[in-house]
Amino acid sequence: MTDNYSNIANKLPKNIKLVAVSKTKPNEHIINIYNKGHRDFGENKVQELVSKFESLPKDIRWHMIGHLQTNKVKYIAPFVSLIHSVETIKLLKEINKRAKQNDRIIDCLLEVHIAEEDSKFGLKLQDVADFVLLPEQNNLENVRIRGLMGMATNTSDENQISAEFQKLKKKFEEVKKMNFRDQKHFTEISMGMSNDFEIAISQGATIIRVGSLIFGKR
Ligand SMILES: *Cc1c(COP(=O)(O)O)cnc(C)c1O
Repeated sequence: MTDNYSNIANKLPKNIKLVAVSKTKPNEHIINIYNKGHRDFGENKVQELVSKFESLPKDIRWHMIGHLQTNKVKYIAPFVSLIHSVETIKLLKEINKRAKQNDRIIDCLLEVHIAEEDSKFGLKLQDVADFVLLPEQNNLENVRIRGLMGMATNTSDENQISAEFQKLKKKFEEVKKMNFRDQKHFTEISMGMSNDFEIAISQGATIIRVGSLIFGKR
């Protein structure tokens, strides 16, 4: 049997984290990868994330990578490891509130819109710096902004993908130099999926999110 997971995981530079994106895939498929020693899994829907959390081993680190509605934060706040998709201060405040209720600090990434395609989601590149400097941030003691997340345009043009990832990396470096509350913890760039993770790595990704290449087509 070909083992795409091991092919990817074994070649990965040590400083890069692989999030295995298991959305729509059954628990048995997750356990297969878990049994190879993998612990980071990503989902994009709250209900599916919660049900998988409940039925799978408790040492899995669950990543929320999809659009997150404010009214659903409470369901994942007790256990989520990293939320990749923060794009409004309203959402961040709600995550903070629910984190506090659970006596935790929840790590978050700011989702940034870098693709050419229209998308409803993600901060504009030019708004990221202002976002981390919002005065409200100082009251949000139960969340930590750990870095940025982005998705490149779905295209075969590798130069374009590369340029989009470069924009995210550049913004990351710019923000990292700024004096803001979470500066010390601002270390992560989540970019790269099945089709473009190698480009993402060459452009400075610290986290890649790979689904179909590991689990097969959805
Ligand atoms: C589905 C998804 C992925 C993984 O996509 P693949 O092409 O299957 O690797 C990565 N990131 C996000 C935000 C996703 O929704």
